Amino acid sequence: MDQNVDALTGADIEIENIYDEVEIDDMEFETDDNTFYYPCPCGDKFRISIADLKQGKDIATCPSCSLQIRIILDEDFLEDFLEENGIEL
Ligand SMILES: [Zn+2]
Repeated sequence: MDQNVDALTGADIEIENIYDEVEIDDMEFETDDNTFYYPCPCGDKFRISIADLKQGKDIATCPSCSLQIRIILDEDFLEDFLEENGIEL
């Protein structure tokens, strides 16, 4: 009775390849490059920079595979984080 539908038909939009949604608090921050990292199942790491977040981006990508994660963060997070860590862009 189950029907396997493996593709959405009629959709003309590009579907993002979102692997997971991750709270920014669960990500690792590197002060060297002002970038947040999160382990990717492929062995590499998803990454998104402070600059990207500031531009309103919330998708971190892995350079070794096509997976992406969506970052969950409060509007105020970035400002507070930058202030707490003394980061100036
Ligand atoms: Zn990967």
